[in-house]
Amino acid sequence: MIYLDNNATTPVDPEVLETMLPWLRDKFGNPSAGYSLGREARKAVETAREQVAALINARPEEILFTSCGTESNNTVLLSALQLDPDRQEIITTPVEHSAILKPLEVLARRGVSTRFVKISSQGEVDTASLESALSCDTALVSVMWANNETGVVADIPRLAQIVGEQGCLIHSDAVQAFGKIPIDVSKTPVHALSMSGHKIYCPKGIGALFIRKNTRFYPLLFGGAQENGRRGGTEAVALIVAFGKACEIAKSRLESESARLSALRQRFEFGAVAIGGVVNGGEAPRLPGTSNVSFEGVDSEAALMLLDNAGVYCSAGSACTSGSLHPSHVIVGMGLGGARARSALRFSFGRFNTENDVDAALEILKSVVERIRKTTANRSKAVFFGDKPPLRAE
Ligand SMILES: *Cc1c(COP(=O)(O)O)cnc(C)c1O
Repeated sequence: MIYLDNNATTPVDPEVLETMLPWLRDKFGNPSAGYSLGREARKAVETAREQVAALINARPEEILFTSCGTESNNTVLLSALQLDPDRQEIITTPVEHSAILKPLEVLARRGVSTRFVKISSQGEVDTASLESALSCDTALVSVMWANNETGVVADIPRLAQIVGEQGCLIHSDAVQAFGKIPIDVSKTPVHALSMSGHKIYCPKGIGALFIRKNTRFYPLLFGGAQENGRRGGTEAVALIVAFGKACEIAKSRLESESARLSALRQRFEFGAVAIGGVVNGGEAPRLPGTSNVSFEGVDSEAALMLLDNAGVYCSAGSACTSGSLHPSHVIVGMGLGGARARSALRFSFGRFNTENDVDAALEILKSVVERIRKTTANRSKAVFFGDKPPLRAE
């Protein structure tokens, strides 16, 4: 098996698992309890909070633990809409994760409007379009730090400055970026930032939200006084401890891993281009380990099946959209056309991948691409890049 789908989820780092286990066995105390078993758990939660904060250079009290990145995103959207009844418009991009786009669809039924800023063909935010979208109706601007399908990295420091000058709130879904590229909230005036454990070698079911000090906030979950009254519910101590450890490891290896993954990606793309691949977002700044490639004449669903049969795991778009027949909304949102979207494959490299994985995957990919091109050459399933591009988002 060659696992090249690290943007969908990552295997748990053995060191993270070891750190977590005692908290699933004997150390089962409730952090809110006053006796030593509880106090020990409280201390572990607070240590983890420091570890998460350190990864983005935040203060520990600015970190709120949630159940996942999706919860973090939903919390921020709903909070921003609670703050001012006159500000009920959200500005975002057409290439966000479904954990932003879906809640916005639901909120539209409650009268919340969404304005989409323009995205270039390289996946970059058009700043003029953002500037003209900002108004006194704006409750929040939400722009992802790095795109989960293409790896394209937004210039969040610059966008945050533009939004801040207009007195609006800005959130970034940083689930794919944090732990992979440097994020420093002391130098980036974002008000909120979403994170998730399972994209950085921690088990699934734990996330975090950075809320800048003195930023108004309205909780999603009301209950106990946990998380300073900002999220009710007994803390998932073992997962929180694991998340803290995962952040500590990511921070200590950020530079070396980033260089190693960039080299793997370069090696992969050299081979992919040699068999006719076109790299989507290839000219924009990108995450070190993400590669999104379209192969003309190759339906991505067919390719995924053959790759799976050969033991190569990758994806067509995000995990949430594969399995459905919709072409990637990210490639479509970049204005690259339905054909490029229907033939796009995402390969995401991680901590446990090696050069051997890349070489073996390329060899299999080559045979898969050739096979599909041969068998579909005269059939309607073939996708060609000449298709009329779909309408671009406003
Ligand atoms: C995976 C992902 C999410 C969702 O995180 P979960 O913890 O799985 O809910 C949100 N945004 C991006 C960009 C992601 O890649």
